[in-house]
Amino acid sequence: MTMPKTLSPGLLPAYAMRVLSALEDAGWEAWIVGGWVRDALRGDPAHDVDMASNAPWKKSEQALREAGIDVHETGTAHGTITAVVDDKPIEITTYRTESTYSDFRHPDSVTFVDTIEQDLSRRDFTINAMAWHPIRGLKDPFGGRKDLAAGIIRAVGDPQKRFHEDALRILRAVRFAARYSFVIDPETQQALEKCSGELALIASERIGQELNRILESKRLGWALKYERIVLRAAVSELAKLSKQQWEELCEEASLIEALAGGLCPQTLRWAALFSQNTVKEAQNALKRMAQRTEVVAGVEALLMENEAAADLLERKSVTREKVLNLVSELERMSKGSGFPLSFQLVELWQARSIVERWTDERRRNIATIKTLLTELCAEKLPLKPAELVLSGCEAMELLKLEPGPKVGNVMNEILHQVTAGAVSNNHDELVSFVRNHAAELTD
Ligand code: ATP
Ligand code: MG
Repeated sequence: MTMPKTLSPGLLPAYAMRVLSALEDAGWEAWIVGGWVRDALRGDPAHDVDMASNAPWKKSEQALREAGIDVHETGTAHGTITAVVDDKPIEITTYRTESTYSDFRHPDSVTFVDTIEQDLSRRDFTINAMAWHPIRGLKDPFGGRKDLAAGIIRAVGDPQKRFHEDALRILRAVRFAARYSFVIDPETQQALEKCSGELALIASERIGQELNRILESKRLGWALKYERIVLRAAVSELAKLSKQQWEELCEEASLIEALAGGLCPQTLRWAALFSQNTVKEAQNALKRMAQRTEVVAGVEALLMENEAAADLLERKSVTREKVLNLVSELERMSKGSGFPLSFQLVELWQARSIVERWTDERRRNIATIKTLLTELCAEKLPLKPAELVLSGCEAMELLKLEPGPKVGNVMNEILHQVTAGAVSNNHDELVSFVRNHAAELTD
């Protein structure tokens, strides 16, 4: 348990103080709200500053402009504008509550209210429903500070009602619990499970954003183990897994994070999440959740090679050439991440070897593959003809070739000779190699 810090007035960055003063000098009330207050109390690195004010957004805009501050109308339908001071954005939202959510996603309308307490009551969890002012101090009507000290995620108000209003809060609860290693209050947990079906009504890309953050928390294994109902409701592909597959998934996800020693790439985390699914299912889920193209391509490449390269793990089959083929294949599929993905595949295999209790022989092969990968990576071998220091045009000139498919074949052969160690990727050496082997190369 970490005791929340006491917030001294000097903690507020000068750029935020300037905005707060501009609003209050014009006669309005303003508070710092949400993530900044939570993270400052935790003593975490600075979070972007959000403010709430009783000023209607047009009045805030006017007060800020009069104080010489840049303002952008970023969400005026919800009462939000963004001030920019010293290149730092600060969102200012008029005190508001949200009315009904007939689509379970967006409030049908927002109602502007008079007090900060009313504004705080629409916020999701007690730790996110505190306001702070450098002079007036902390406003904490729902016991957020106490929950922060005890490490508890608790919904503000009736949890079921709050999740029914906006089902995304279900995943946000898991996200905050994962990020801070907090527990979820039992009543809130019950409501999470009860309302999880409503996640089906949430836009997939918003689900994707929350999952991304759950993965970033490094506690995917925990989330899979303790929030099975929620995660299965959030991602239909995961709902297909059997009990045993789920158990293996939990173990593998925790191991991947431990093996990477806190430096697990996000692509590997996503690959671990879908390691019990087919490549097609993983691809569909990631695309639907609007993940970045490199992540989709990387996960696809990892899961495909996880199967396709499995023979490498069999006795006697590990050779430098086969490992290089694997790197080249991953390079081709991911368009440029051959080595990073190869190391990630090794980590997937390492985790799997523990979960499935692979033989010592297979484990030794994994270690050999890793050593070979390290050596190959240090050699900076070219993985495609474009990475040869000799260009196609130069080869054409040296070999007196006309443009055409033959040039491609020649370049592939030169690449093959370089990766096999017959010649190094050095310009002078390649020129003499091409001259000396003209006949074989153009054969
Ligand atoms: P992070 O550090 O991840 O940015 P945050 O608390 O700043 O966390 P945001 O999503 O940026 O989270 O939202 C800012 C604040 O707005 C939250 O602290 C919370 O008070 C409120 N909020 C955001 N989303 C919701 C929601 N879906 N329902 C209720 N309140 C919300
Ligand atoms: Mg935020």
